[in-house]
Amino acid sequence: MTEQPVIVLASRNAKKAAEIEVLLKGVGVSVRPVSEFPSATEVDEDGDSFKANAEKKASQVARQTGHWAIGEDSGLSVDALKGAPGIYSARFSGEGATDESNNLHLQKQLEGVADAKRGAHYTCHVALADPNGAIRLNVERYCNGVIIREPRGTNGFGYDPYFLIREYGKTFGELSPVVKKSISHRARAFNEFVPGLVPLLDEIRKSD
Ligand code: IMP
Repeated sequence: MTEQPVIVLASRNAKKAAEIEVLLKGVGVSVRPVSEFPSATEVDEDGDSFKANAEKKASQVARQTGHWAIGEDSGLSVDALKGAPGIYSARFSGEGATDESNNLHLQKQLEGVADAKRGAHYTCHVALADPNGAIRLNVERYCNGVIIREPRGTNGFGYDPYFLIREYGKTFGELSPVVKKSISHRARAFNEFVPGLVPLLDEIRKSD
């Protein structure tokens, strides 16, 4: 069997990386986390959009490792907070933020906001860079929900225990990974990304 070409995943979030590995299963590439490459340095996420940050992660990691790389940037946008935390989702509660502190901060910001005004969506932007750092593919997709007041369920990560999917009446914390894998912002983005990746596989194999 010929070896599968390597694509580096430019994310240090283990739970997110695990979801992405599942979504790329069967594509015929070996998805390797950036943590396996000592040459890759931390990416400063200073872009002003999910796209800018995803492209920066992909491009920097591709150049530093000499492999094709996927950059993924995602986050939660809450209507009542004018789209916050958005690109600042991972660090919403400030320095040293954790999922728990971010969720506490979110609940504080939403105090007094009526149930009917708690609409939100997740965004996932995926970018693919070649070893020169040139961006070759870009996809962005969304998933709508509502922010509830008390956490429900332990699946997923980040804001998932508070993010309720109306159609299911359950949060991503409660829904099985199989369901999240089919309807999440990340699932939708990668379902679109894969058909764009397949025509590039020959080129990826040759430059591996
Ligand atoms: P990034 O690693 O800079 O893209 O930050 C993503 C952040 O957005 C995470 O740390 C979470 O706070 C939030 N986020 C993105 N996707 C999800 C998800 O699927 N579930 C829960 N939180 C998410």
